[in-house]
Amino acid sequence: EETISVKLFSEKIGKPVSEILKKLLLLGMMSTINSQIDFDTATLVAGEFGIELEQKIEKTAEDILIEEAPDTEEQLLKRPPIVTIMGHVDHGKTSLLDKIRQSKVTEGEAGGITQHIGAYQVELNGEKITFIDTPGHEAFTAMRARGAQVTDIAIIVVAADDGIMPQTVEAINHAKSADVPIIVAVNKIDRPNANVQKIMQELTEHDLLPEEWGGQTIVVPVSAKTGEGIEKLLEMILLVAEVQELKANPDRLAKGTIVEAQLDKGRGPVATVLVETGTLRTGDTIIAGTAYGRVRAMVNDLGKTVNEAFPSQPVEVIGFSEVPAAGDILHAAPADKLSKQVAEERKDKQKAEMLKKMSKVSLDDLFNQI
Ligand code: GDP
Ligand code: MG
Repeated sequence: EETISVKLFSEKIGKPVSEILKKLLLLGMMSTINSQIDFDTATLVAGEFGIELEQKIEKTAEDILIEEAPDTEEQLLKRPPIVTIMGHVDHGKTSLLDKIRQSKVTEGEAGGITQHIGAYQVELNGEKITFIDTPGHEAFTAMRARGAQVTDIAIIVVAADDGIMPQTVEAINHAKSADVPIIVAVNKIDRPNANVQKIMQELTEHDLLPEEWGGQTIVVPVSAKTGEGIEKLLEMILLVAEVQELKANPDRLAKGTIVEAQLDKGRGPVATVLVETGTLRTGDTIIAGTAYGRVRAMVNDLGKTVNEAFPSQPVEVIGFSEVPAAGDILHAAPADKLSKQVAEERKDKQKAEMLKKMSKVSLDDLFNQI
């Protein structure tokens, strides 16, 4: 903590040293002209003279680097919903993600090569939907624990020939505690022993009353095998998203979340970023956790090189100094040198405090203002 000498303080506030020492004594402090006093003490003493000290916040490098100016209403534009699929093991999460992707992604892209980058987008009637391709509530919880909000809608998958299982309940609870709307996909309806009514009954026991029965929960019977119900599921996602009025400002430096990251032999650190707001561009200075750098190249979920990534878009980013961690928040930054400095500062701090903004009071600056 910064301090100031009684002598300097006296000069700054234009009061005699002897007067200040008296006030300090009244406060229980034996001091001399050379004693150092802290900000709180200085405030008290100044108050005794009827002088109000103004606290001047000195911005840290982190504050300067990551300017989060509020968006105006006009800047906010509609963005695609981000969807996570959760549910019990073997109920068909991976199959469903694959089927949705197959049925939609390759449609307009004859022979288009799809690649797994941790998230992908599909389009229905000109509207995009983003799916996180790393199912399981563990990833969901891990990211949420790090402050990353990367889900707008949770799809809970329940196998129609099985029922609500422990991990289904966990998934429901996670979605509820994150305050994320739930759509239930009752999967495997192609199976002879599928029983959608039984699943709906079980859902009511977990506070999810199906719309069909007068409740609020959208339940869509699907088959990841035949593709039945997939279109309906996507329509329901768009319907829920419409109500949510999801918006972001594409006209600002990007902020996003690291969905997954690894070290690639040829390309170095590679991370899938889900852009939350702003537009990420090739050449942008970036920082995520203790990793920093410049966007050297970006590849979309179709394996295509792109120069821009918009809100809710997943994109693979090359150019980090090291591999960031899943759940790290990415910021594009205006200043090159600062990003390295900030990344190094973060490294020096405890991981828990990494993103906590700090402010520092400089007594010198403070007194300059009086
Ligand atoms: P996950 O553990 O939730 O990711 O489940 P998977 O997608 O790996 O599916 C588990 C098993 O169920 C696999 O053998 C799939 O082929 C099968 N499966 C998934 N969805 C369906 C479906 O709609 N119908 C049928 N018949 N089998 C399915
Ligand atoms: Mg799976």
